[in-house]
Amino acid sequence: MGTDLQIAAGKVSSVNPATGEVLRELECAGETEVRAAVARARAAQAAWAEIGVRRRIAVLREFQHRLHEKKSEIAEAIAREAGKPVAEALTTEVLVVLDAARFLIENAYRLLRDESVPHGNLAVKLKSGRLLREPYGVVGIISPWNYPFSIPATEALAALVAGNAVVLKPSELTSLVALELESLLHAAGVPHDIFQVVVGDGATGAALIHSRGETGIDKLVFTGSVVTGKRIAAAAAERLLPVVLELGGKDPIIVLDDADVDAASSAALWGAFVNAGQTCLSVERCYVNRSLYEAFLKACAEKTKKLRVGHGLDRETDVGPMIHERQLRIVEAHVQDAVARGARVLAGGCRLPELGKNFYKPTVLADVTHEMRIMREETFGPVLPVMAFDSDEEAVRLANDSEYGLAASVWTRNRQRGERLARRIHAGTVMVNDVVSCFGISEAPHGGVKSSGIGRAHGRFGLEEMVRLKYLDSDRMPGMKKVWWYGYGASFARQMEGFIDFQFARGLAERLRGALRAVGAATRKKL
Ligand code: NAD
Repeated sequence: MGTDLQIAAGKVSSVNPATGEVLRELECAGETEVRAAVARARAAQAAWAEIGVRRRIAVLREFQHRLHEKKSEIAEAIAREAGKPVAEALTTEVLVVLDAARFLIENAYRLLRDESVPHGNLAVKLKSGRLLREPYGVVGIISPWNYPFSIPATEALAALVAGNAVVLKPSELTSLVALELESLLHAAGVPHDIFQVVVGDGATGAALIHSRGETGIDKLVFTGSVVTGKRIAAAAAERLLPVVLELGGKDPIIVLDDADVDAASSAALWGAFVNAGQTCLSVERCYVNRSLYEAFLKACAEKTKKLRVGHGLDRETDVGPMIHERQLRIVEAHVQDAVARGARVLAGGCRLPELGKNFYKPTVLADVTHEMRIMREETFGPVLPVMAFDSDEEAVRLANDSEYGLAASVWTRNRQRGERLARRIHAGTVMVNDVVSCFGISEAPHGGVKSSGIGRAHGRFGLEEMVRLKYLDSDRMPGMKKVWWYGYGASFARQMEGFIDFQFARGLAERLRGALRAVGAATRKKL
């Protein structure tokens, strides 16, 4: 989304996308405020690192407890500002964050503690090696509006437990949810300067990246569109700022000829329409074996027509509004382009003005092709475009024919066949007989390949993104000079050849001869 939305002269407005009601206006943090926030975070971070992982885990436990207590309140705040049904706010946001906290509470100590690195090379056997995981310092997080709670919260919890301070720049469309997260963390015992929210638009985000030196962040975790991600990568490259980029997707679902049509069609539907299709892991392309094609389309069309579209706060709602009319216009343009090129509309395909200006009817399109925008560009709306394929080979080729590679899914009654196919798909995650839900598996790394991003969030690998690796090399024989130091002499190279042969020659005899030649190298007089 552009930065021109809901912004007036240094302010952002939080708006209920279902009703258009302005919930609150907030001042944008400018460059000076961003610098000051980062400087405060830096000043406070050493003490936060110093208290140790166990005490930080205790803070996470308190956060988890408080979030559990306020689960419905938070879910309603998300529904109000982002439009999604409360049920989805509970499952895809609150539950995801509670479980991410559970994962860190159970595993952060083990994953962050020093790790011994045994040496295999005989030349360095007497040295002890250890990996230390040190916090970066100040981690900047820039987040989108579509999962305004679970995305910044899962990333922030990992950064915080590792000993970092965090400055979060949330989407300009969902500042209030970010402020809810901030007050929960503070109430749980995270010091105010260790987690700060800077409200604002793209300019505030840019200020966070450009802040340098003592007032600069040490790492950036960005989640958003490919266009912004590329801009951010370029800005970060200029100051060699390490970044994680969690970007867009065009996730395919492949329904093989032995799939359960009822389960696969329900999954495709949910994957395409959850959060009104505004999910990075949304099912955006659906490929069905021709033998099941008509039955699959019929099931999708029938089930789609039964979905209840409405306000997220109405607990009977299945599909809520889109975040903004501008996002809806992209969906409309993709559907119009597909229809003009021969796609059939089996359900939906139009706005629902009687509900409000941001509502679009869940839509099923048949007979789409890769010449259509709907199969190439991220649509990010409630549309399920379906096309037929004739062989598994063709399905893999079609799935891989995309600039994106976030996730994918394969449907089959034969799991082994599904897993074999999964290995051939270019994506960060491939699910066999499921969609989207990998995001809620706290142990699973989340991230993409190709234009879908760089780096990982969640689980062990998400935690690793929040620390700098330091290798601690400690010699057990402080008084002993190393054989490879000066004092080479005429025979030294020959002795080293012998030593290399002793370790790496193929034959036993050659290795023994090498050992004999090597004798003496260690005792040779060194400078
Ligand atoms: P966006 O790129 O427009 O904005 C994301 C964030 O970047 C916002 O906070 C925005 O204010 C900020 N921003 C904009 N311009 C900036 C700049 N020049 N410098 C610094 N910050 C800037 O994305 P969006 O519309 O908020 O989110 C939707 C996109 O996010 C979709 O493409 C979706 O696929 C992607 N997404 C990806 C994941 C993932 O995990 N891979 C998750 C959720 C959303």
